[in-house]
Amino acid sequence: MTARDSKTLRLTRSAAASVRRGHPWVFREGLARPPKLDSGTAVSLASEEGEPLGVGLWDESSPIAVRVFGKSGRLDERALLERIERAFARREAFVGPDTDAYRLCNGEGDHVPGLVIDRYAHVAIVRLDGDHLDPWIEKLAPKIARVLAGRGVRSVALRRARDEAGDRRIRPLAGEEPEDRVIVRENGMAMEVDLAHGQKTGAFLDQRDNRARVRAFGSRRARALNLYSYAGGFSVAAALGGAAHVTSVDVAAAAHATAQRSFRANGLDPAKHAFVTADAFAFLEAAARRGDKFDLIVSDPPSFAPNERTKPRALTAYRKLHGALAKVLAPGGLLCAASCSSHVSAEDFLDTLDDAALGRDDLSLVAMHGQPPDHPTLPAWFEGRYLKFAVLA
Ligand code: SAH
Repeated sequence: MTARDSKTLRLTRSAAASVRRGHPWVFREGLARPPKLDSGTAVSLASEEGEPLGVGLWDESSPIAVRVFGKSGRLDERALLERIERAFARREAFVGPDTDAYRLCNGEGDHVPGLVIDRYAHVAIVRLDGDHLDPWIEKLAPKIARVLAGRGVRSVALRRARDEAGDRRIRPLAGEEPEDRVIVRENGMAMEVDLAHGQKTGAFLDQRDNRARVRAFGSRRARALNLYSYAGGFSVAAALGGAAHVTSVDVAAAAHATAQRSFRANGLDPAKHAFVTADAFAFLEAAARRGDKFDLIVSDPPSFAPNERTKPRALTAYRKLHGALAKVLAPGGLLCAASCSSHVSAEDFLDTLDDAALGRDDLSLVAMHGQPPDHPTLPAWFEGRYLKFAVLA
């Protein structure tokens, strides 16, 4: 079915206004009369008065009933592929020759809602948010593989949802069977990525530019601390930048093993650095008691606010975290504090770094960064702008 002969759904007034502004989601309550359709069915959207508003794909199971792909036109395999190719082409201007790990398609931000494709050297990992692309992906995958072959991608694999059975979390869709682990290059820095068991689609590609910034800060910063270090991307960046001793802290011991291999892949000796498996708050308490001080601190916790309801609690947790960080930041030190919660705005986040939260008044905000350009968003889609990276010195 295509959008031209597809079912037309009437939107409530507020849902219509949101789609008109370019927001790509229609929640079930935004539909005047929610139908029963198979996930993946192409639908057309109209206002109560019958004004055509957009075309999208139906999702029978998620709270987002329709993801909007555009204002008009047919929504078929060819149209989807065209959008995906446009997303790939957009990267050419943004990704340099020293980087082979980046986001090829950022779903909503690339006008292909729900479709994330990340490149890790010769492997492309697909992640689907929602069920609306399930009936399409098997047919699209060989075509995606053909387009990407010209860029050296040999495997296209699907990242499974968490609740699916099986330990290995990727399933080949087209091309060669991918390895579990690959070494990628990010601005010339080597990083090992655990495709089969890692978080997200393997790595946190959204921090690429911020890792480059930390690398630039590394020089003359003797003691660095990377909290919530995962596979050690910021740790390697700091060490390559010249930090003499980097302490990486994460609750996941397996992530430290990956981090240590990445140190070696860059000609760095992990034995000269510390990898601590601990809760971040417990580590900070113990470090403060010992009187430890760090010249460079990176803090990149998991989302403290998964939804609007948990936001107040999240802000309290950020304040507490930042207060604990300030206690172990050496005078003249540099603090990089990140948040990946879309429900916490940049201003909200800066409130958690004020003098009262930090318990000191010697720090200035020198920069505020976000996501790199391979993670585009839409002006009307605030949910896509989740990353904040505050630099205080
Ligand atoms: N900075 C990383 C990404 C961090 S993701 C990068 O650039 O790649 C968040 C990490 O926090 C995960 O690795 C998770 O294992 C870790 N984590 C979650 N809760 C934690 C806690 N209470 N203490 C320490 N680490 C924690």
